[in-house]
Amino acid sequence: MNSVTLPESQAGAVEGPVEVVRAYKAWEGSNIFCLGGRFVFGPDVRSVFWTISLIVAPASVFCVFVARKLMDDFAGGWGIVIMVVFIVFTFYVLVLLLLTSGRDPGIIPRNAHPPEPERQENNMELTPRLPRTKDVIINGVTVKVKYCDTCKLYRPPRCSHCSICDNCVEQFDHHCPWVGQCIGLRNYRFFFMFVFSTMLLCLYVHGFCWVYIRRIMDGEDTSLWRAMAKTPASIALIIYTFLALWFVGGLSVFHLYLISTNQSTYENFRFQYSMRENPYNKGIARNFMEIFCTSIPVSKNNFRAKLQKRTVMSSQSLGSSFASTNREREKSKKFLGQQFDSAIGTVPNRTDGNNMT
Ligand SMILES: [Zn+2]
Ligand SMILES: [Zn+2]
Repeated sequence: MNSVTLPESQAGAVEGPVEVVRAYKAWEGSNIFCLGGRFVFGPDVRSVFWTISLIVAPASVFCVFVARKLMDDFAGGWGIVIMVVFIVFTFYVLVLLLLTSGRDPGIIPRNAHPPEPERQENNMELTPRLPRTKDVIINGVTVKVKYCDTCKLYRPPRCSHCSICDNCVEQFDHHCPWVGQCIGLRNYRFFFMFVFSTMLLCLYVHGFCWVYIRRIMDGEDTSLWRAMAKTPASIALIIYTFLALWFVGGLSVFHLYLISTNQSTYENFRFQYSMRENPYNKGIARNFMEIFCTSIPVSKNNFRAKLQKRTVMSSQSLGSSFASTNREREKSKKFLGQQFDSAIGTVPNRTDGNNMT
């Protein structure tokens, strides 16, 4: 965890009572937190409700107008199995959506200060500016890592800064507007499983709508068109799932290709490995193992860590002009990301810092 230090402007301030706040309240990224910092979302998390409605609304139509009718049609409990499997699988898809959307995707905590400039090998003087890039050797291949001005750190290989969430994210894949979260090291597995399972759910609904139409045709000895006319809900679901399959099916196939070649969407879109060797590619089987059979690293952030917020009365704020008081306040707000009273500032001290969400 980063250490939190007192801003220079507040040195010499008069200490007041200590208050304990959770770390997520002083978070500098654009994230939105729920349940006291237990869930972390991107700033566009509202879009996840739209995604949920795109799943739950057709699922409800399927349960009421198709699966319930099939329960009556199929003897021996098979109709109930169709309904139960569908409800359990829909619930499973929604849990995967929450696991993708509400987890730390692999955010690297910001540094409070830039790293020390390195000494040149044949020159003992410090280099005046931090170099913008560094070379790192990965499996014998030289990879450039960039310095992030916002997070004040050299990004590890495959890490990128998400402009929407305003964080550096390990193994950044992309920022997904449908789940309102970055996709990275810690949620890529759930993201892929969500997309793939949604594809299976579409196939399930699509298939059983045709089964229901077939049952009507057989039961009433009628034509396909007449049978379809008797169940407009099935027609709507067949069209809806057909269109959705192009999207989630295409996305599943694309990510299967990415996993098999050990690339991220970000790397693929930037043609990073079109001209040179991919140092992360270990062969199809081991690439799949890396995504699905390795333990997910613990988060580097403890959003629920307790910070001691010591109320301080700035000497400047007591005797200076409104303009300077206001300037100090803006500095403090930038530092802490929270509101202050006009003459009273607050300073956090981190008391614990290794636990994970
Ligand atoms: Zn960054
Ligand atoms: Zn993001």
